[in-house]
Parts: sequence; structure tokens; C-alpha cells
Amino acid sequence: MSGHEPPNRWGGQDARREHERRLRGERERTVVRLAALTDDYAEVVEASRWTNADDEHDPEGQTIAYERSRTGALGAQTRAHLAEVDAALARLAAGTYGVCERCGRPVPEERLEARPTARTCVRCPATS
Ligand SMILES: [Zn+2]
Repeated sequence: MSGHEPPNRWGGQDARREHERRLRGERERTVVRLAALTDDYAEVVEASRWTNADDEHDPEGQTIAYERSRTGALGAQTRAHLAEVDAALARLAAGTYGVCERCGRPVPEERLEARPTARTCVRCPATS
């Protein structure tokens, strides 16, 4: 602990390390969220087996159908986000992370902090 700070703490290896730490943290959170969702999903499917399928007007059955589609959509969303994080990690390994895919200018650090998977700078609209 010397207290010495390099003049530009976001330059070179430091920035790369910080980006990697941030993306790995994001990946871990996403995997945990996905695992929780998958658990929920399994529970919902399990619970739906116990519903009385003969009663079409069973309000419980409707809730489960709703829960099931909601959990499925959230799971798909979370999986898509995980793919984005992995793509960002791949760009980091390739040395193209933090560079706008559209104009080639650096993506501002604040934007990367708010959205670690950002592919474009603020001025360029995202492709997808
Ligand atoms: Zn741009």
C-alpha cells in the first residue's frame, strides 16, 4: 500500500482489469439469477402437475399458467443477457472491448459502468 496512483487510472492494463472484474461480476450475478429462475421454473412446472386439470375454471391453474410463461420469458431474457456478457468478455480478450462497433470511437467509461455489455457509444444507436 504505497498510495501511489498512476496518472490515468483508466489507462491500459488497469482499465482492462477493471472491465474484466466488472464483467465477471455481472456474469456471476446473471448465472445466479438464471439458476434461481430455473429453480422457480422447475417448481412451477412441478406445482402444475398437482393441479386438477379437469377443472377449467380453477383460478389456481390460471395463476400457474401465468407464472410459467412469465418465468419462461424472464429466463429467456436472462439467458440473452448472459450471452451478451460472454460476448463482451470475448471482445475484452480480443482487445475490442469498449470500442464502438459503429464508429470505432471509445465508448465512454460512464456508459460501460452503467451498461458493461454496451457495444456502441452514446451517439450511435445499438444494432439490435
Ligand atoms: Zn459510435
